[in-house]
Amino acid sequence: MGDRPPKSGNLRHSEPESRYCRNRISNGKTNGHTNGATGHINGNGTSTLPGLDASKLTITRADPTARAVPDEVAACAGNETICTDHMITVSWNAATGWATPELKPYGPLSLLPTASVLHYATECFEGLKAYRGHDGGLRLFRPDLNAKRMLMSTLRISLPGFSPAELEKLILTLMAVDGPKWLPRSRPGSYLYLRPAVIGTQPQLGVQAPKEALLFITASFMPRMDAPVGGMRLHTNPEDMIRAWVGGFGYAKVGANYGPSLLATNEARSRGFGQILWLYGPEGYCTEAGASNFFVVWRTREGALEMVTAPLDDKLILDGVTRRSVVELARERLKGEVEVVERKYTIDEVIEADKEGRLIESFAAGTAFFICPVSQIRHREHDIHIPMAKGESGQYTAKIKGWMTDIMYGNEQHPWGVVVEEQQ
Ligand SMILES: *Cc1c(COP(=O)(O)O)cnc(C)c1O
Repeated sequence: MGDRPPKSGNLRHSEPESRYCRNRISNGKTNGHTNGATGHINGNGTSTLPGLDASKLTITRADPTARAVPDEVAACAGNETICTDHMITVSWNAATGWATPELKPYGPLSLLPTASVLHYATECFEGLKAYRGHDGGLRLFRPDLNAKRMLMSTLRISLPGFSPAELEKLILTLMAVDGPKWLPRSRPGSYLYLRPAVIGTQPQLGVQAPKEALLFITASFMPRMDAPVGGMRLHTNPEDMIRAWVGGFGYAKVGANYGPSLLATNEARSRGFGQILWLYGPEGYCTEAGASNFFVVWRTREGALEMVTAPLDDKLILDGVTRRSVVELARERLKGEVEVVERKYTIDEVIEADKEGRLIESFAAGTAFFICPVSQIRHREHDIHIPMAKGESGQYTAKIKGWMTDIMYGNEQHPWGVVVEEQQ
């Protein structure tokens, strides 16, 4: 970092939106200086404190020659996530509001051992990918939805609100700066993983809403997980464990949902399964597969083709961007052929469909696993083997995955693919 150019390399952008983002930011009409819904929730009183403002961003560049870009396989082979040259951080204080966002060299954060996040799980995060298109373009997929969801998660754990449009601009800016080097045009069809997060940093023990917070965004490699050999194998949760509950926070992407799920996941992995299929209640409602949403395609007893997935209304599951996109695309493009149904359904219904030969296919859907074919579910003494009509995937799974891939990598121009205006 000693080679880093001096502060003269800093830039101030008055219009990062127009410089980096060719598409209109759809939810950008809100006042950039609003403190979101936060004021009263965090006790900072009024909305006169500075809100999150991407236009104030300062840039301190890393030495671009200091680190070479590894190939994808090498980058994912170790035990540490390899991040790009830069990260964005923005601190918040209840008395002074959101500080100036900083884009700076990737490196450690500094926290005191008494920081709120380390004791009370005041943390939430997002995950989205940046895709290097076959047409050379660099795109994010519906980043407005991630930004809105991060606001929702943030408020759920009493961290400060912000304008989602400003977060979206910051994410685009990080990619505008690091995209050309870390996701080069010579690697079409590849992606980076973006991880925005907010943590409570106030160094005071005591169960209370933090008066200090930090928002940060990193970009990194992430292994491809969408095509495990032979399909993804799921094991239902142990009878004495659930992931989320009605009245809980399963719908928010808060860190507190994930640590406690690892015990069941590790146990399943040791038995050769990839993820837990989380059931809920004495009825055994199917909810999610690991940290992905879960879909089943079956034929009803009346003979209709249905694509079924858990509903959002009881707030048990995460409103995945991938889930939502699958539902919308299938409703539009499989109309008259497959009916998409968001409803509660039980593992017994899946077992019945299997016994009666009505099970067509199944897949998990999320940013990390993308659209991942499911080939088996083990539930207590039952083993459900799910057909994969196209060898390594079901036919609807393959179709939907193809449509989404085309949008992400620019084979189809679509409003969901937001093009990053790169800094060359
Ligand atoms: C992140 C996540 C998903 C998938 O959401 P996407 O927006 O599609 O990435 C699904 N379920 C859980 C529990 C998650 O954490």
